[in-house]
Amino acid sequence: MAKQYVMALDAGTTSCRAILFDAQQNIVGLAQREFTQHYPRPGWVEHDPMEIYSCQYGVMTEVLARAGVDAADIAGIGITNQRETTVVWDRKTGRPIFNAIVWQCRRTAPLVERLVKTLPAEVIRQKTGLLPDAYYSATKLRWILDHVEGAQQRAEAGELCFGTVDSWLIYKLTGGKVHVTDATNAARTMLYNIHTLEWDKDILEALNIPAAVLPAVKSSSEVYGTVNLGGVEVPIAGAAGDQQAALFGQTCFAPGDVKNTYGTGCFMLMNTGETAHASKNGLVTTIAVQLNGRTEYALEGSVFVGGAVIQWLRDELGLIRESADSEYFAAKVPDCGGVYVVPAFTGLGAPYWDMYARGAIFGLTRGAGRNHIIRAALESIAYQSTDVLKAMQADTGLEIKELKVDGGASANNLLMQFQADIARVTVRRPMIRETTALGAAYLAGLATGVWKDREQIKAQWTLDKLYQPEMSADKARDLYKGWKNVIRRVRSGAVL
Ligand code: ADP
Repeated sequence: MAKQYVMALDAGTTSCRAILFDAQQNIVGLAQREFTQHYPRPGWVEHDPMEIYSCQYGVMTEVLARAGVDAADIAGIGITNQRETTVVWDRKTGRPIFNAIVWQCRRTAPLVERLVKTLPAEVIRQKTGLLPDAYYSATKLRWILDHVEGAQQRAEAGELCFGTVDSWLIYKLTGGKVHVTDATNAARTMLYNIHTLEWDKDILEALNIPAAVLPAVKSSSEVYGTVNLGGVEVPIAGAAGDQQAALFGQTCFAPGDVKNTYGTGCFMLMNTGETAHASKNGLVTTIAVQLNGRTEYALEGSVFVGGAVIQWLRDELGLIRESADSEYFAAKVPDCGGVYVVPAFTGLGAPYWDMYARGAIFGLTRGAGRNHIIRAALESIAYQSTDVLKAMQADTGLEIKELKVDGGASANNLLMQFQADIARVTVRRPMIRETTALGAAYLAGLATGVWKDREQIKAQWTLDKLYQPEMSADKARDLYKGWKNVIRRVRSGAVL
């Protein structure tokens, strides 16, 4: 009988999860464990790679035991992971030479400043699709090679391996046999040329990074190696960075398909097919997936403060007890009564890129109350997402008809309806909100024959709820105009 299950390993920023799916895409088991965050200095963030591995290994075996599934019935394992986080380890012993430097870590900001003096930011952007930043792996790798004694020489001698978390896990799970990464993860290192599909010689040279440390770049859906689970060799058959996995898990397979994840921040990705669109509106160009010899691209934009504005209502203003209460209070008023909340707590991201803008509440009248402010805070998540959506539309000329949604705040019906109203799109919320893990499972299932092709996957995908624009187009236009107006007033250059 054909093997019936696919396992997704979701190595996130704060926890590792293992989710077991059957061939009908039902979740049949889930195990999750958190791991330690290390903050050695202000602005620095590290993880212990061995802890990530043991945590991931633990949940992988736990989910099997809990679901009562035999390893022999697993067709393949797909990995999805926190992106950009950088690990360097000894090729022979498999021991890390330093903690993993996490994507959030700002320690290499000065290295980025130095890099762009040698290689202009625009050149790096053309090659990698990324605006040079400490966020990506490149300067984190440079930092480790600089700060661990003898590391540069050992790297040059081929004794060290570099990898993002997918790469690290594949290496450990295959018993040190395989040193690879997938194209979507490679695209987040700022070392990979997303057009030629090669590690970029100019960037490597500018950072003095020896090519010997780099993993081989594979597609997102193929058998990389096997992991021995209780005597059974199970193929590791797919990998993708978390946001790309979510795009795939939302079945955004065609150019113009977009997903938005409403978490602490919002992450929006648009499939742009085989064309890599350079953004004029502050978006990042990245690889969406590499599958069956085809490389597909995506535009990516993020909103810094998404669901976090609801946490702010709860923790700083004390207006609600729990995030979910925001819907109840917001629904008590028919609209915001002219109130706008702009949660530019850490500046404004795409398409504005104004690091010095700060938040504000506008339009207060004597009648404005708690419910209006709560509603305006919720609506700010939809307005900011609409800004990114419009930037994607402007960059590609592709018409966006639908938005697939996931993440904690996508549970909020009022927010989803307002999103449909303001962006004038159909909003689709899937039954399975674990889209990141689902995407990794799809990739592994496609490589191992659990699913024949994407059409079959799409046909099985189930909808939870659909939201169509209900507000009149005129009213939506006026409200959005009001938003653009308040944005102008919070900009750092604004004259108040
Ligand atoms: P992350 O993966 O970034 O930790 P989650 O996807 O778990 O985030 O989403 C958590 C965020 O969603 C929090 O910022 C929380 O305030 C917000 N959130 C959760 N439920 C709701 C809700 N019903 N309405 C509005 N916001 C919500």
